[in-house]
Amino acid sequence: MVKFLDLQKVTSKYADEIHEAVNRVLDSGWYLQGQENASFERHYSDYIGTKYTVGVANGLDALIWILRGYIELGVMKPGDEVIVPANTYIATILAITENGLKPVLVEPNINTYQIDDRLIEKAVTPRTKAVMIVHLYGCCAYTEKIGEICKKYNLKLLEDNAQAHGCVFNGRRTGSLGDAAAHSFYPGKNLGALGDAGAVTTNDKELADTIRALANYGSAKKYVFRYIGRNSRLDEIQAAVLDVKLRHLDEDNALRRQVARYYMEHIKHPDIILPEVENWDRHVFHIFPIRSSRREELQKYLSENGIQTIIHYPIPPHKQECYKDWNSLSFPITEKIHAEELSLPMSPVMEEEEIRTVVDTINRWGR
Ligand SMILES: *Cc1c(COP(=O)(O)O)cnc(C)c1O
Repeated sequence: MVKFLDLQKVTSKYADEIHEAVNRVLDSGWYLQGQENASFERHYSDYIGTKYTVGVANGLDALIWILRGYIELGVMKPGDEVIVPANTYIATILAITENGLKPVLVEPNINTYQIDDRLIEKAVTPRTKAVMIVHLYGCCAYTEKIGEICKKYNLKLLEDNAQAHGCVFNGRRTGSLGDAAAHSFYPGKNLGALGDAGAVTTNDKELADTIRALANYGSAKKYVFRYIGRNSRLDEIQAAVLDVKLRHLDEDNALRRQVARYYMEHIKHPDIILPEVENWDRHVFHIFPIRSSRREELQKYLSENGIQTIIHYPIPPHKQECYKDWNSLSFPITEKIHAEELSLPMSPVMEEEEIRTVVDTINRWGR
């Protein structure tokens, strides 16, 4: 069987270093807000290229805290609008509505699956305060045009970098391209912890300090509470594990690109559309998304032939039950992607034979 993602294998690749890191924390007797957080935050800032990293409990919280931080700083207020791609994972949207802000959904480009930068300016209103781009599937969503629109209208440029750790745009990493970025270290992400974990990166000291307080009950000073915060901290064991895995991230992303290259060069089927890869630096292949108008049939065929696939994602946010008011809205490109997308097995630990099996099985489909 070819697994979609063999997490056991991903972890065991660095088992010695991870055991050493976990044991160090166990033996230290210090489990929260200690040296491991400080070390990971410093290394992650150096890696991404920002002044600050604030470790938090998960990626959704990282997104929530960026927006809440700006609200506390008076940059935004409930009712303001945030422009966001319509075809993102639900977390991006949840963070906006959780803060009483209004998501303004914008269609993606049908070839790149990233927010269509030609449609952003039309979506700007006097209430728009930010553009939240999502580097979906590990592909850079940033374009110079997006940067220019944000400058022109004085909008915050925010990045959901949950799927794109290590991705590079013109020598700069995603997560450093805008005013603030949210990162998820959910185990299956390119940089994954052994449980939930997340971070915010930014060059804005005021925002970083505010988020650090918000994620610690709203307190910057022990027993003094400035904000109505929550407990949303990154624990020391996860920070220590992430510090190990960060050292191997570029090498793991290079292996993902090798898998992607093999798929791109060898999958040939009239009913399958491969992703468009314009620039290999700008993609870290968190997901390898293909499209087919016969997706359900293809998924069933692959499953019967021992190949696990996943759909990212079967239902777009505006069609979800939790957002009933939007269910009648129409986003045809988004809906098409959600109806046709299928994610092939992808990870840095795939064996050559597995990659070949996926390709051969797909190419034999219906023949
Ligand atoms: C995984 C993910 C998140 C949420 O991260 P968690 O750590 O699972 O809370 C947010 N946005 C996107 C695009 C994601 O893929």
